[in-house]
Amino acid sequence: MSDEIGSVATAGRRERHAGDANDRFSIPQLSTGDMLREAVAEGTASGLRVKHIMDRGELVPDDVVVSVIANRIDHSDAANGFILDGFPRTVAQAEALDQELATRGIKLDAVLELEVDEDALLDRIKGRAEEAANRGEPVRRDDNPEVFKTRLDVYREQTAPVTEYYRSRGLLNIVDGLQPIDAVTEQLAAALAALPSHPIRSDVR
Ligand code: AMP
Repeated sequence: MSDEIGSVATAGRRERHAGDANDRFSIPQLSTGDMLREAVAEGTASGLRVKHIMDRGELVPDDVVVSVIANRIDHSDAANGFILDGFPRTVAQAEALDQELATRGIKLDAVLELEVDEDALLDRIKGRAEEAANRGEPVRRDDNPEVFKTRLDVYREQTAPVTEYYRSRGLLNIVDGLQPIDAVTEQLAAALAALPSHPIRSDVR
């Protein structure tokens, strides 16, 4: 199973790497999972619509996440670029993203896929739940072995084809997500640094 950033995704350390990238490149990390959890916490209409879907580990409808992302990339902090974390997760979302970007004259520079096997992902999800509980914070309702099974099925059926979508467009970079965190961070940075117009800030490399 893969755990991707830059465009595609699902659980584990992805958020941490996207956060590192956020510091390093000085562009915002836009996580659909975070934005949806915020909407749920605020009790907005779309939050109420997606809460149960998220709790079951299924994907929320494409039109919901596409409009969340389309609105968010128009904010001024995203004017110099952005990292999409957890999006797109279906080929339909990838196609919609292409359209949204084309309308704005924006080019997708790269797609980064973190490859992690299923046992390691399950361990990380259990670890994340334990850490949250130890800190006295609420445990994500989708961070448990039962919902994880659904998330894996959903990944295989709906998200895995997104890899091919980007591979065939020459945008895909695969990084071994089982390496130590620092090694993964360096490889992600190296993949981005290799881009023709890479966004790495010289003061934080
Ligand atoms: P994440 O925090 O990225 O693991 O996402 C948590 C949950 O939010 C997922 O299991 C889905 O229910 C929902 N979600 C996040 N991003 C997407 C997306 N791009 N498409 C559909 N559902 C999503």
